[in-house]
Amino acid sequence: MTERLLIRAIKGHGQTQIVTLNGKKIRKMPSTLELLPDLKNLCLQNNLISKVCPEISTLTQLKILNLGNNLLEEVPEEMKYLTSLKKLHLFGNKICRFASGACDGLQNLILLNLNRNQLTWLPQEVSKLKSLTHLSLNCNKLVSIPTELCLLKNLRELQLNYNELSCIPEEIKFLKKLQKFLLVRNYIEVLPEGICHLKNLRILDIAGNTIQIFPPGFQNLKLKEFYCEENPLFVKRPAIALQQEDIWSLQEITSRYVMNQLAKKHPFLMCAIEQYPEVRNLISQGKKCPICGKYFLSIWLECVRFIPPPKNWKISRNLQLVPVQVLICSYKCLNRRDPNLFGIAHM
Ligand SMILES: [Zn+2]
Repeated sequence: MTERLLIRAIKGHGQTQIVTLNGKKIRKMPSTLELLPDLKNLCLQNNLISKVCPEISTLTQLKILNLGNNLLEEVPEEMKYLTSLKKLHLFGNKICRFASGACDGLQNLILLNLNRNQLTWLPQEVSKLKSLTHLSLNCNKLVSIPTELCLLKNLRELQLNYNELSCIPEEIKFLKKLQKFLLVRNYIEVLPEGICHLKNLRILDIAGNTIQIFPPGFQNLKLKEFYCEENPLFVKRPAIALQQEDIWSLQEITSRYVMNQLAKKHPFLMCAIEQYPEVRNLISQGKKCPICGKYFLSIWLECVRFIPPPKNWKISRNLQLVPVQVLICSYKCLNRRDPNLFGIAHM
């Protein structure tokens, strides 16, 4: 029956580059597709397809494939033969995994829409989708995203609304071209500092998470739109000056000494550090105190500064001040801080 539908669809268009068979209750894809090697656009939305036919592998000229609202349970392996594919719509299926190798031939894919599926994880192989600019994974059950996703350096839009994410990898900073990042309704408590390195980010939506404070430098993002409704923005209690002693571990004391000497270009240490990659690695994670300008490694005091959002940000109506995290080196600096910087009491 589907064969007849296919023939009718081709005759209807009078050409063999586009086939549209939406909402025809199709269960089995027409195998005669293999007679259409020039096919560019295949639309089989709103059917009952649970498996793609093997003949699809002959469609090497196909640019757009729409299998939205069907019954697929995986991103099919056959996708790897569709080497010209630019847009792949698989929304509204029951997809819970990628078949192994599915991403192998999709080096030209620019758009992947997997909204409304059952994915709990993504394979590392997503990093093979080198040309991808738009990735939509709204309404899945993702609990994490692999750091390999952050290797998709052409990605401009990443939609992860309505998932179960509790964190975003620091490597997000590698998505240099990212312009639009949507994270509505997840369980994110902390945004990584890496997000502050996304110079092209213009739209950020984090509504409906559990974020209290933003990473240092957040206010320098060049956002146009920023939405953060339904987050418990700053419910921690600000503390006033606490006269306490600083207690540092030996590692912290040594690291601070080394980092601050290196900052002064101490010749002996500059030379010695070349021999110790582990030490170099460790101190590359050092942070600079905004009060005294000295470096520290893993012991700090968390403070908050409430900053009016930049004027050119279009923002949530509820947001008058953005709580931005500031990390400082010691109680000595805490007692020297300006009156707009508040220490945070951790109860
Ligand atoms: Zn300091």
